[in-house]
Amino acid sequence: MPSSPEEAATEHPEITYIGCARCGTLIAGLDGRYACSGCGWVNEWTEGHRPLPEARHRRG
Ligand SMILES: [Zn+2]
Repeated sequence: MPSSPEEAATEHPEITYIGCARCGTLIAGLDGRYACSGCGWVNEWTEGHRPLPEARHRRG
């Protein structure tokens, strides 16, 4: 069991919502990464809240 809320946050993607930059539809994203199912718009993964799991540096 996680010893701190901060540690727990790194284990579970954070779901956030924004308006699509192209068509304005409200879309959900994980960790700041979005893909609109209406028009196909996606944002740069570099705009996410953290690196992709493959690029993540493990501590310890
Ligand atoms: Zn869209």
